[in-house]
Amino acid sequence: MNNKNPKEIEFICTLCKTKEKIPTYIVEMLDNSDQFNVDLNTPPRFNCEKCPGKMVPVFYIGVNGIVYKYNEK
Ligand SMILES: [Zn+2]
Repeated sequence: MNNKNPKEIEFICTLCKTKEKIPTYIVEMLDNSDQFNVDLNTPPRFNCEKCPGKMVPVFYIGVNGIVYKYNEK
């Protein structure tokens, strides 16, 4: 189901718009460890290194088969 992700997932900071690529296996590990905290609408997130914002995936197929897409407003 989740074999359509590239090797790296592009993340974008919702605050400063910095982009960073994170290896897919790390994102999936985080995604898996998130399962207890069952808000399926929330994609795996990382803290931005450049500001207090959060980085979210631009496009990522989650381990539950959910597709997360970042839509810039
Ligand atoms: Zn940022």
